[in-house]
Amino acid sequence: MHRRRNPRHMGAVQKPHWQLMNISSTEPNSNSTAMKCCTRCSATKPLSGFYRSTGKKDGHESHCKECSKAAGKLKYQKNKDLVNQRSSERQKQNPERHRESVRQWRERNKEKLKAKDKAWRQANPEKVRLKAHNRRAKKRSVGGVLTLGVREKLFLLQKGKCACCAAPLGEDYHLDHIVPLALGGVNADENVQLLRATCNLKKSDRHPIDYMQSKGMLL
Ligand SMILES: [Zn+2]
Ligand SMILES: [Zn+2]
Repeated sequence: MHRRRNPRHMGAVQKPHWQLMNISSTEPNSNSTAMKCCTRCSATKPLSGFYRSTGKKDGHESHCKECSKAAGKLKYQKNKDLVNQRSSERQKQNPERHRESVRQWRERNKEKLKAKDKAWRQANPEKVRLKAHNRRAKKRSVGGVLTLGVREKLFLLQKGKCACCAAPLGEDYHLDHIVPLALGGVNADENVQLLRATCNLKKSDRHPIDYMQSKGMLL
């Protein structure tokens, strides 16, 4: 019984049977050399260049795979635009509800958002510092913004020395508001300087003239 399955006993089989299986399983209802003309782009391609379609005579679509893909993409884009348009209309009509759904989405994706934010902060320390400065200034409603790169600019201007004691700034220096925000100073490039951390902590929120006077440097 089992001996009959051995290929040596099946006279017609000359190729190994995996090869025959492979051919018949990829192209069951066509011979692979048949050519067909695409009704969209008019290119003549082998049948394998067309998606299968059971309803068609030769079992394949009338337009080629590339044309099918392009049509699918276009349809997707059109639909996406429509969906976006509708959602922005709904947003305008009911901003309250939109805010609520955004809030719920943020709540659902809290962990993911946190991780993303952390990664961004690690990659952009300078922007993080500036944002914090700008946020504090906004809170105190003195206005103004610091521009990116203000640290490097000041470092060069101050020749790497503390604006207060002229000692080398080193690695651990602070961006200080010359007139403190708390005293109505503006959060702008013109109102900042680099101080060594120790000098900045001593200065704190004091007016620069008071501070320098306290150090006996100004009258
Ligand atoms: Zn085509
Ligand atoms: Zn100093």
